[in-house]
Amino acid sequence: MNELGCFSQVSLGIYPTPLYRLDKLSSKYNINIFIKRDDLCGVGVGGNKVRKLEFLLADAINKKCDTIITMGGAQSNHAMLTAACSRKLGLEPILFLKARGVTSVEGNLLLNNILDTEVHLIDTDYSSEVEKEALDYAQYLEKKGKKPYFIPIGGSTPLGTLGYIKGAYELFSQAEEKRDMIDHIFCASGSGATQAGILAGAKLLNQETKVTGIMVSPEDNFHETIRVLARDSLQLIKKNIEIRDKNVHLVDYTGTGYAIPSKNGVDAIKLAAKTEGLILDPVYTGKAFGGMIDLIEKGYVKKNENVVFIHTGGVPGLFALKLK
Ligand SMILES: *Cc1c(COP(=O)(O)O)cnc(C)c1O
Repeated sequence: MNELGCFSQVSLGIYPTPLYRLDKLSSKYNINIFIKRDDLCGVGVGGNKVRKLEFLLADAINKKCDTIITMGGAQSNHAMLTAACSRKLGLEPILFLKARGVTSVEGNLLLNNILDTEVHLIDTDYSSEVEKEALDYAQYLEKKGKKPYFIPIGGSTPLGTLGYIKGAYELFSQAEEKRDMIDHIFCASGSGATQAGILAGAKLLNQETKVTGIMVSPEDNFHETIRVLARDSLQLIKKNIEIRDKNVHLVDYTGTGYAIPSKNGVDAIKLAAKTEGLILDPVYTGKAFGGMIDLIEKGYVKKNENVVFIHTGGVPGLFALKLK
């Protein structure tokens, strides 16, 4: 943890988030399935982006910025949480989101409105075009005397990744209190920093844990994205620990496409709700949980091993997408 101390952080979430065992599902599979509730971190409606924002927004404040610009899909949880966290710190949030699929103000778009956030809907399928619009706007604001700070998609920069190195420290120390070894960690992987940070944190702590990211969108070279993010975040804190390709475990459970509910994901949402009273989302955690269950059924995890699923948030998506 000392290594992270040299980086400014702002306190945004309520940590540690709860870690507990899903008893019914654990006994069904003879595996100890724990859940780490990063959706319950107490700002906005919670989610994994808050850990990254504790580092990113501290950087913005250090640089005397007054406006936070970020981007994402129409129902971006990252964008909504950036708006909520910016508001909490007295910074002005501005969001650039893909217009595709927006028919009404629901889910995160409703929350963005409640947070009184300036939203620009960009009519394109390409994140690169959304980013260009956002950066042009940042330049325009600078000319008007503002100090904008731009956060790339998902907050997945090496600095943002430090949030999940810290998250991994938190998780491993909770497990240690219970004298549990963690054999596997599963999380949804989108822009990569969550998985990369947990992987980097596990390496730093010499844990043998296998960290598996469940892909929920088709991404090119995603192994390399995760490996490089993990390595670069470790270099930021002056740790030259090599992250090898074979340390990056990814399994694709996208189904038809990003943000399109899949059968496997919807089944998992219903299973979690029915067995554990646990609510998952259709874009990330449902697909990731369904992927984990499928992998467990295929023997990816040994009997009596300890598994942690990271609940990364995303519940507003339930109120914007049809589950069928
Ligand atoms: C962004 C997001 C993820 C993916 O996290 P990354 O760090 O971008 O890989 C997972 N779950 C939810 C709910 C998210 O909003």
